Amino acid sequence: MITKTSFPKKLKLFPSFFYLSLILFYSHCALRPSGTLSQYDSYFPHESTISSIPKGKVRATFFGTASILLDDGETQILTDGFFSRPSLWKTAFSKIESDPSTVQSVIEKAKIDRLQAIFVCHSHYDHVMDSPLVAKQTKAKLFGSTSTLNVGIGAGLLPEQMQKFQPGKPITIGKFTITVLESKHTPPFRILGKTNATDPNHPNIESPLKTPVKATDYIEGGTFDFLIQHGKNKILIKSSTNFVEGAFDKIKVDVLFLGIAQLSLQPIPFQEQFYKQTVQTLKPKLLIPIHWDNFFKPLSEPLEPNLRLGDDFDANMKYILKRTEEEKVEVQLLQGFETIDLF
Ligand SMILES: [Zn+2]
Repeated sequence: MITKTSFPKKLKLFPSFFYLSLILFYSHCALRPSGTLSQYDSYFPHESTISSIPKGKVRATFFGTASILLDDGETQILTDGFFSRPSLWKTAFSKIESDPSTVQSVIEKAKIDRLQAIFVCHSHYDHVMDSPLVAKQTKAKLFGSTSTLNVGIGAGLLPEQMQKFQPGKPITIGKFTITVLESKHTPPFRILGKTNATDPNHPNIESPLKTPVKATDYIEGGTFDFLIQHGKNKILIKSSTNFVEGAFDKIKVDVLFLGIAQLSLQPIPFQEQFYKQTVQTLKPKLLIPIHWDNFFKPLSEPLEPNLRLGDDFDANMKYILKRTEEEKVEVQLLQGFETIDLF
């Protein structure tokens, strides 16, 4: 008979070895991309538009997450501009801040040399973190919520280089007219017992944010969509996977940049409503999914789908492709730094 005291050492070690293996196996799976991009090869343009931008056209360049450069050959505008993309390890266990050499290299590689304005969709770090530095380097104006402006002040931007959002009021920049619309953040997500939900007692960044700080110090501060008109064409940029019911009822667009992060993790009725309130209402000819990439990987490497830890890219795309096929909406994906001429 084996008593507790005579339990062989090997067997005693078994439970801890078993749990360690389980944890390693889980992390191994969780830290893998949630999809294989080669399956979606036909959705990428695969052509480098190095030619000058044809008159009247708008060229878009994608930098992952919700960072998009729009350029009509005269004026450039940017959403977010999150380029530093610190690693998962760094984001989880230490303080983060903009990396000036990475930001500068992206500015040079993407030829961001006529930038007039940066619009930040919300103040989580994967959207706002580099915006003040991009504004400084390019002399562009930073547009955002009070929280975003506090990130700007913390980074040393002067008040004249920043402007607070006035939702519904069009802003003209070159031939672009931008209207900021109140929106909603992707529903809260729980990971390892922690939630990314905004604390209702602290919904905003209340004072100038001096970096380096913890990723969680970047508080949402409200989420916004951007309706952008250029000539007779319209673009809508929606970074988060959520909607304000009826917000787009009177709007039709040519191109929709749609945040699809965690779409398939939401209940089916939510997915249906999200699709109805965005694609079915706005009736775009072209849909470009955004915020699908693993933003813990640097932009110097090709974009990969979000990690299984918090998303399911394949399931998100399956849903989007099925629905858009039914309604004959063209879908295009963009790699990092990849460009597309809209309209
Ligand atoms: Zn966010």
